[in-house]
Amino acid sequence: MSNRLDKTDFDIVVVGAGPAGSAVARITAKAGLNVLLLEEHSEVGFPVQCSGFVTERTLDEVGFGAQTLIRNEIRGATVHAPGSTRVQLGGKETRAIALDRSALDQLLVSKAEQEGARVYLQTRLNDIQREDNRLRVRLKQAKTSGDICFTTRLVIGADGWNSSVRRWMQLPQIATIAAVSIDTTLQNDLNDMAQIFVGNQVAPGWFGWAIPLADGSNRIGIGCDPKHTNIKPRILLEQLLHLFPEQLTGAKMENFSGGFIPLYTNADHYRESISDNLMLVGDAAGQVKPTSGGGIYTGLRAAESAAKVAIMAMNDGDFSSNSLRRYEYKWRDNLEDEFERGGDVREMFLTLSDKQLQRVVQFLGLPGLRQIIDRYGDIDYQSHVFAQLVRVAPTLKSMLALPSILPDRWIKMLANNSKDSGEKETEFTVLSR
Ligand SMILES: Cc1cc2nc3c(=O)[nH]c(=O)nc-3n(C[C@H](O)[C@H](O)[C@H](O)COP(=O)(O)OP(=O)(O)OC[C@H]3O[C@@H](n4cnc5c(N)ncnc54)[C@H](O)[C@@H]3O)c2cc1C
Repeated sequence: MSNRLDKTDFDIVVVGAGPAGSAVARITAKAGLNVLLLEEHSEVGFPVQCSGFVTERTLDEVGFGAQTLIRNEIRGATVHAPGSTRVQLGGKETRAIALDRSALDQLLVSKAEQEGARVYLQTRLNDIQREDNRLRVRLKQAKTSGDICFTTRLVIGADGWNSSVRRWMQLPQIATIAAVSIDTTLQNDLNDMAQIFVGNQVAPGWFGWAIPLADGSNRIGIGCDPKHTNIKPRILLEQLLHLFPEQLTGAKMENFSGGFIPLYTNADHYRESISDNLMLVGDAAGQVKPTSGGGIYTGLRAAESAAKVAIMAMNDGDFSSNSLRRYEYKWRDNLEDEFERGGDVREMFLTLSDKQLQRVVQFLGLPGLRQIIDRYGDIDYQSHVFAQLVRVAPTLKSMLALPSILPDRWIKMLANNSKDSGEKETEFTVLSR
C-alpha cells in the first residue's frame, strides 16, 4: 500500500476500506477501472468496532481465504429475558460464525489491491467540489502538510455510520444504536452457544450478547438506543455482567471496542443513496439489519450492486443520478423488503414491557415453536422465521399486538411461506392457546 502521488485522476474514488468499500473497489478494479481506495486509519481493520457474528453466506461473499477468518462455529443461542426466563434455540449444527473482523477487512483490502485498486492509508476525505461533470476530492494525509486533490467521475462513500460523503450529499444522519463490547475469558464455558440478553432495563432499545470463541475467550457486548435511555453502554455492560453471573462470571472489563450501528429505518425508503457522481454503500447508506445490527453481509451484497452499476455507468460514460439510480433499484430489490420487515419486528418488540417480553420468550420455548425456530431461524433473514411463527401460533399475534391488516411485504412473505413450508396452518394452534 503505497501513497505515491503519480496520478491525479481516477475513474472511482472509494472512501473507506471497511468491508463494503474494499468489496466495491475489488470488483470495479477487476473490471479494469482506475480505482483509488482511501482509509483514514494507518492500519486496515483497526480499531475493531464489531463482533464479527455472521452466517456462512458472508464467507461465500468473501470468497477465497474466508475459511481462515473463522474464530468459532456457533451452534445456537440462549435468549435470556427478564425474570430469569430463558429459551435455548438450536444447539446442534452450526448456525453462525464468529469471525476475525480485522482479518476480514485486511483480506478484502488485499483482494482489492491484487485486482489493481490503489490503496491510500492515513488519508482522510476532507471535501468534495463539483467541476463540470467530475468531482474534485480534497484529501488530508497524516504525514503530509496541506491537502492533496484528485479528480474523479464517481465518489463512492463507504465511510461508515458517520459518513462525510453522506453529509456532503446533505442527507440526514441515520439514527444509531450505541454499542460497546469486550473480549474476555469467563469462568464457565458457553459451549459454542451465543447468549442474547433482552429487557428494557438490561439493554433499553437493543440487546446484550456473549459470543464464545474457540480460543477460550468471549466477545461480550451490549447496545442501547439513545432514544430510549441516557445510560452509557459501558455502565449497562457492567450491570449485565452482574445480572447474569451463571453465564458471565469471570468477565473483565478489558479489551474494549465499540461504536455506533446505523439501523435501516422504514423512513429510509424515501431517501436515495445516490446523486450525480455519488453513491453510498454499507453503513453510510444505512444498509444494516434493524433486528440484529448486522451490516457485514448486507454491506457486501450492496457493494456488489454498487460495483456493477459503476461499471455500467463507466461503459455508458454517464454518472448522472438517472444512471446511478440503477444501483438504488438493485440494492433495494435485494435487501429492502427484509429490512422493512425487520423494522416492523423491531417496532413491535420496542412496545413490549418486560413482563410481555418475558411471556413471549417463555412462549417461544414451547417445543413446537422451538422446532420452527430451529428449522427457519436465519440471522440474515429473520423475518422468515417470524412469519412462520405468527402463522402457526395466532396467540403470538395478539401478544405482539400485530395490526389486523399487515403491510404487503408481510402478506407476500406469508403466502410464500405457506406454499413452501409444508407446515399445517393449525398445527400449533392448540399449543399457543
Ligand atoms: C459494537 C458493534 C458490533 C457489531 N457486530 C456486528 C456483527 O456481529 N455482525 C455484523 O454483521 N455486523 C456487526 N456490526 C456492524 C458492522 O460492523 C458494520 O455494519 C460494518 O462494519 C459496515 O461496514 P462498512 O464497510 O459499511 O463500514 P465500516 O466498517 O464502518 O468502514 C468504514 C471505513 O471508512 C473509514 N472512514 C470513515 N471516514 C473516512 C474518511 N473521511 N476518509 C477516509 N476513510 C474514512 C473508517 O476508518 C472505516 O475503516 C457491529 C457494529 C458495532 C458498532
